[in-house]
Amino acid sequence: MTFPVVGMVGGGQLARMTHAAGIPLGIRFKLLSDTAQDSAAQTVGDVVVGDYRDLDTLRAFARGCDVVTFDHEHVPTEHLRALEADGVRVRPGPDALVHAQDKGVMRARLDALGVPCPRHRIVRDPRDVAAFAAELQEDRPAEPSGPAGDGRRGGRTVVLKTVRGGYDGKGVWVVDAADEAAAAEPFKAGVPVLAEEKVDFVRELAANVVRSPHGQAVAYPVVESRQVDGVCDTVIAPAPDLADDLALRAQELALRIAQELDVVGHLAVELFQTPDGEVLVNELAMRPHNSGHWTQDGAVTSQFANHVRAVLDLPLGDPRPRARWTVMCNVLGGDYPDMYAAYLHCMARDPQLKIHMYGKDVKPGRKVGHVNTYGDDLDDVLERARHAAGYLRGTIVE
Ligand code: ADP
Repeated sequence: MTFPVVGMVGGGQLARMTHAAGIPLGIRFKLLSDTAQDSAAQTVGDVVVGDYRDLDTLRAFARGCDVVTFDHEHVPTEHLRALEADGVRVRPGPDALVHAQDKGVMRARLDALGVPCPRHRIVRDPRDVAAFAAELQEDRPAEPSGPAGDGRRGGRTVVLKTVRGGYDGKGVWVVDAADEAAAAEPFKAGVPVLAEEKVDFVRELAANVVRSPHGQAVAYPVVESRQVDGVCDTVIAPAPDLADDLALRAQELALRIAQELDVVGHLAVELFQTPDGEVLVNELAMRPHNSGHWTQDGAVTSQFANHVRAVLDLPLGDPRPRARWTVMCNVLGGDYPDMYAAYLHCMARDPQLKIHMYGKDVKPGRKVGHVNTYGDDLDDVLERARHAAGYLRGTIVE
């Protein structure tokens, strides 16, 4: 067998969908999963159940792989360096991945590259939060109220983030710097905290690119990403009414970050669009990303297929859209545990609907799947995706 083995660390839905994308190419796949029940462990044949925080486990896993890649960014950076020293192909490599692991490292590097970011500071003490807020206040005396603002005056609202380990809004606190108890909360984890200005953004965008070791890169259309309670809810591709020059700048920014950081694989650059028509980088993810799930049905080559190609250093596939509009809505768990029962109605109502389920137990608020719809009329495409996601969840009943 000459076909290579891609090893993926982490058994979540990203691994499940990456595995699926490699099947038509005959790529062999090996998984390191926390449990045999994880989303990807249910579908991958060659599964090692083990702890990704244990170097010996990682070493044994990597021995059977031609390349090792990731479904999450939680593998300790020093373990990845040890694997590289053993001669393992780790993609993306630790020196790139650390920017997706540690928000402090990411901010410092983007500053050095001159990439626009929210104003920020690493803080070690709640008193530093108040000092940071006071500085922001000097620069900008009143915070605007508006869709993203909270109407508080005085510029004392700041966003605090644990530098490592956050996801889906966990590890992010929006606090009034004057509220000492609230400002103290993020410090309880005992890791440094990144304080940021609360950006009064118009909307959130994502510029997704894929880069290979030989330096080829492709850029997907810039998408709009809508969050509910800190969790991605809807992605619209391409972002509606986005000026061509801003879309191009966002794509160029993402490609430049991928090159400068030597990223291999899929890179999601989460962005805030500001009222003055600029973009600020919120965060980076170096793996397939929720903002790219639309590509499964809406692009010539999906983010998953391109991630597989990139980590194997194969030529990348065409990232262009296949429809005028594609909409992705996440399916979150609701009170209604039997989602399969909803298939009959959803499929009969919309034969073009694409349903992707992750094999996860339905728990309230948990991402258990997503749907994709596409077409020429954005309102219609949006309505169909929202209906299907709501019906599967049980919040829409007809
Ligand atoms: P996570 O690691 O959970 O993805 P993010 O840094 O992406 O954390 O933050 C989650 C959400 O919180 C963002 O999608 C955005 O809606 C909001 N947010 C984060 N940082 C800021 C900021 N500086 N200003 C305003 N909103 C923010």
